Amino acid sequence: MITSALEHPNQAAERLIGRDYISWSAISTYQSCPLRFYFRYVQGLPEKTVSSSLVFGAAIHAVVQFHYEELLAGAEPPDLDTLLAVYQAEWKERDQQTIRFGQTESVDSLSQLAERVLAAFQASDVAAGVGRIVAVEETLRGEIVPGFPDLLARIDLLAESDDAVTVTDFKTSRSRWSAEQAAINADQLLLYSQLLREVAPGKPLRLQFVVLTKTKQPAVEAIDVPYDPQQVERTWRIAQEVWRSIEAGRFWPNPSLTHCPACPFRAECRAWV
Ligand code: SF4
Repeated sequence: MITSALEHPNQAAERLIGRDYISWSAISTYQSCPLRFYFRYVQGLPEKTVSSSLVFGAAIHAVVQFHYEELLAGAEPPDLDTLLAVYQAEWKERDQQTIRFGQTESVDSLSQLAERVLAAFQASDVAAGVGRIVAVEETLRGEIVPGFPDLLARIDLLAESDDAVTVTDFKTSRSRWSAEQAAINADQLLLYSQLLREVAPGKPLRLQFVVLTKTKQPAVEAIDVPYDPQQVERTWRIAQEVWRSIEAGRFWPNPSLTHCPACPFRAECRAWV
């Protein structure tokens, strides 16, 4: 159903997807598979299973967040045992029955991997932060384009130096990212940058990914995302088209080897006609 001219986009979002904003995660879910978006955001179906890589990534993310929160509070960097305790606590929060492991994975093998990843993180330059830490896991929201619901952004790390304000987004990955991979994933940071324009008046905004690889010898690499106004405009056009499609109720399965194996709605998808 198309929204009426009198309905505010945030109200339309509340009616259509149960929240009065849209997140990057929702936009990218729609892009990867509109039917998966429908099951998750429109129908609000519970996710009966979750992949171990998602749980692992979320646990590492929580540890990194804890590390920077300690620095922000003026404390010393936490030691490895403390970081591992945060990781373990994150795992325990999950219902273990719902986690789908890969063939060669177990809770123990992933704990060992976490230890290696976190040791690499501690030894990296990024562990000290890029300048003075301003915010950790900050939520921002705001209207960027009239007629579009507010964008909700979660900023992993915001730091200020003499010559720039740096926005960092942390990722875990099976392998190192190429510059091309960073460029493909840049849309999220470029959209967030629109919300940050007023946070950093007079200072250039520097956008970067920090990629922690889940390899035998983990690497921690910071990759800058060049600010490109044309790509920002393009990304917004994509987001607007996604929103118009959601308003119009266009949902269909988009099977792919990349997304289907980890999809928690495979049974519902098979039943869809
Ligand atoms: S199984 Fe694949 S096609 Fe079906 S909803 Fe999930 S991601 Fe989409």
